[in-house]
Amino acid sequence: MEDKFVSILGVNFINTNMKDMVERLKERMQSGQKGFVVTANPEIVMKALEDPTYKKYVEKADYVTADGIGVVKGAQILGKPLPERVAGYDLMRNLLTVLNEKKLKLYMLGAQEETIEKAVQTIKVEYPDLQIAGYHHGFFKWEDPAIINEIQETQPDLILVALGMPRQEKWIAEHIDHVEKGVFIGVGGSFDVIAGTVKRAPEFWQKLNLEWFYRLLKQPSRWRRMLALPHFALKVVGQKISGRN
Ligand code: UDP
Repeated sequence: MEDKFVSILGVNFINTNMKDMVERLKERMQSGQKGFVVTANPEIVMKALEDPTYKKYVEKADYVTADGIGVVKGAQILGKPLPERVAGYDLMRNLLTVLNEKKLKLYMLGAQEETIEKAVQTIKVEYPDLQIAGYHHGFFKWEDPAIINEIQETQPDLILVALGMPRQEKWIAEHIDHVEKGVFIGVGGSFDVIAGTVKRAPEFWQKLNLEWFYRLLKQPSRWRRMLALPHFALKVVGQKISGRN
C-alpha cells in the first residue's frame, strides 16, 4: 500500500496530487469545516528543521503539500515518491475556480496595499461569481485583532494569507482557533503575481523545472534564500543514508 504521508526531514507531506487536494478542500469549504494548508518548498522544510517554534506552526496544518520540484525530487531520493507538485499558486487558482463555481466567499490578507487592491480587482473580473468577504494589506500591527474580527464576522470559506514565509504560517497558526470555518492557506508572493507586479516563470521554464532559476534571474536579491536548496538536498541525502524518517 502507498504511504499516506512522506516524511522529509521531519515534515509530513501528504502523498497526493492536485486534483485530490482541491477535492478535499472543496469538501471542507462546502461543509463549513476549517482547514490549514502549508504548501512547503525546501526553504520551509529547512526553516522547520532549524526553528522548533516554526515547526510547531507547520505541524498544526491539516495538509502539507509539495511546493517546488525540490520537495518532489527529495521524496524520490528517499524512495517514497510524491505524485506531483501541489504548488501554492496553482492550488490557489484552482480553489478560486471552485469558489467561483459554488459562489463561495473569499478573504485575502497580505502584500502591499496597492498590490492587494489590484489583486482584488483582477479576481473580481476573472472570478465574477465568487464573493469577496474582505481584504487587508500585509503590513499591520501583529497584535491588532481587527483582521481576525473581520474574518469571524464575515465567515469566508477561503482565507488566502500572503505574508511570506514564516509570517503567514505563524499568523494562521495563531488565529485559526478563533474562527468557526474557513480553509486557510499561506500563498507567499501570489498576490504580487495576480496583480502583475511580479511575473511567474513562463511555462517553458516551469516545464523544465527551472522556475527557481527564473525567479533568481528576476530577483537576484533572493540568492541568499536560495541557499536553502543545496542545504536541503544535502540533508535529504543524509536522511537517506541514515535511514531515519
Ligand atoms: N509581505 C507582507 N507583510 C510583511 C512582509 C511581506 O504582506 O510583513 C508580503 C509581500 O509584500 C509579498 C508577500 O508577503 O507580497 C510574499 O513575499 P515573499 O516573496 O518574500 O514570499 P515567498 O513567496 O518567498 O514566501
